[in-house]
Amino acid sequence: MHLLLVEDDDAIAEPLERGLEREGIAVTRVATGAGALAAAAGPGAATFDLVLLDLGLPDVDGLEVCRGIRAASGVPIIVVTARADEVDRVVGLELGADDYLTKPFGFRELLARVRAVLRRTTPVGRHGTPAPVALQAGSMTVDLRTREVTVGGRKVALTPKEFDLVAFLAEDPGRVFSRGEILEAVWDPHWYGPTRTLDAHVASLRRKLGAHRIETVRGVGFRLAGEDPA
Ligand code: CA
Repeated sequence: MHLLLVEDDDAIAEPLERGLEREGIAVTRVATGAGALAAAAGPGAATFDLVLLDLGLPDVDGLEVCRGIRAASGVPIIVVTARADEVDRVVGLELGADDYLTKPFGFRELLARVRAVLRRTTPVGRHGTPAPVALQAGSMTVDLRTREVTVGGRKVALTPKEFDLVAFLAEDPGRVFSRGEILEAVWDPHWYGPTRTLDAHVASLRRKLGAHRIETVRGVGFRLAGEDPA
């Protein structure tokens, strides 16, 4: 999986690149609209599986960049915008973007969108109904598209951060994630605050999902039980 990241702001692009690469996604980054258009039309263009395009670029209007990439290639495009009023135009047929994110967005949200777009832009699903993007751990289902969690079919109301945390752990049930990994992925790449916040969210999730679904691994971090706790 190879992603073309078009983002002029280093403070956003650098942690994004690191996070995506940690997820096994190779990233080529360009910082200008001209760079994006050159990459999308250049000899390496066919290697891109997805373009993540910030619309606020220093040189060329991001909407023009989107249109130009679409003219050159059928590669899926997720646009990133700080302006909610741009959304209707970019996801419409006019510009041909496949999805969008509004700033500020969390890394898990981005990853869920990336995966969802890739699933539905396979030849069969292209422009069809979005495929469900759900993670399963025992009888618990985490739907990344609707951001709903159910346990045994019963919907559990979670706060946005609680959802992000359980969705992160549910990507690999049974795997132990360190506190640092969790804080970086679910909170902020530059999180240096008290880690009590993480413990508070875990405690709250245990109240809602059951006491033993999230296990503490002493001295390391947490993991989600792959099966329903006995
Ligand atoms: Ca920008």
